[in-house]
Amino acid sequence: MKLLVTGGAGFIGSAVVRKAIADGHAVVNVDALTYAANPANLDEVAGNDRYAFEQVDIRDRAELDRVFATHEPDAVMHLAAESHVDRSIDGPADFIDTNIVGTYTLLEAARAYHGGGHGRGRDFRFHHISTDEVFGTLGETGLFSETTPYSPNSPYSASKAASDHLVRAWGETYGLPVVLSNCSNNYGPYHFPEKLIPVVILNALAGREIPVYGQGINVRDWLYVEDHAAALLTVVTKGRLGESYNIGGDAEATNIDIVRRICALMDEMNPTGAPHDRLITFVKDRPGHDLRYAIDASKIRAELGWEPSVTLDEGLRRTVAWYLENRPWWQAIQERGHKLERLGLKAAG
Ligand code: NAD
Repeated sequence: MKLLVTGGAGFIGSAVVRKAIADGHAVVNVDALTYAANPANLDEVAGNDRYAFEQVDIRDRAELDRVFATHEPDAVMHLAAESHVDRSIDGPADFIDTNIVGTYTLLEAARAYHGGGHGRGRDFRFHHISTDEVFGTLGETGLFSETTPYSPNSPYSASKAASDHLVRAWGETYGLPVVLSNCSNNYGPYHFPEKLIPVVILNALAGREIPVYGQGINVRDWLYVEDHAAALLTVVTKGRLGESYNIGGDAEATNIDIVRRICALMDEMNPTGAPHDRLITFVKDRPGHDLRYAIDASKIRAELGWEPSVTLDEGLRRTVAWYLENRPWWQAIQERGHKLERLGLKAAG
């Protein structure tokens, strides 16, 4: 297939692009290259003749129309978004703009392309990639299914929920062939060093305090990013139109458990400074911090035959090894001025 991937220079998008090219698809990557993007994530595909890059903002309708007309994709995989919850607390405007207005603009461009019925547009499909955070928070038991009511709690998750609703409505109202997926927390190589797992690895390596929000009791379901990329390519090629699919790793863990496991891996793989768990510091909790997310992924398993292939133990080991072996990748981000400072406390005062 010829895939138009938005946000392909980000963490998950670049994993999708690398796998799509390896699987034989053609890709046009549409990315505005915000702070979260990193063209180095795509070094291994940059010279491939099935790969093309368009530096375009998804809020720019004229540019999107040009990209659709030029590349005539079979499908859109829409990942471009502002994605960091703490940033959404400090400054929600970018999240409303990109995640809601940007998705609306992309839907309209896709509708014009599909409705035009020309070229590849005939068998077109639009895959919207979203998060389990749209469902809000769970208590100690229960799982999010595809029919769980939406109840987002952060500006980030509210903006993603809004975008999900727009995509569904464009399917129902305008007949745009849409499919959606909602995934749990991803981790793995190329994760921007402001998210929990890379922060823990890099702080442990530097002998800096490892901040843990609240008591670290918040539970997340973790999925290795390459398993998510495989799931997304399964959904875009085989998913039933009009459906949504929950994607998860069947790997629930509290934040403090994740942090302790990474510290133990660091003790083993980089013993200088061990024991690394002495660096753990409990800090003020994130405002509105959801207690627990957990995914029931039985629909995608049963219907599309996808399941995670990397366990949490194995995935964490691979991730720590990747950060230890790829210092130039994260050092370049730090040299661009990205500080490992705590975000998301402005609202808490
Ligand atoms: P990311 O922040 O690493 O990457 C986002 C990419 O989108 C960047 O390359 C950025 O330049 C691009 N982008 C941002 N605004 C843009 C705009 N206006 N126009 C064009 N490009 C723009 O994000 P990620 O963690 O890779 O997440 C990708 C998608 O997956 C998001 O939609 C997110 O909501 C969803 N998701 C993420 C997770 C997770 O754990 N990270 C889990 C489930 C779903």
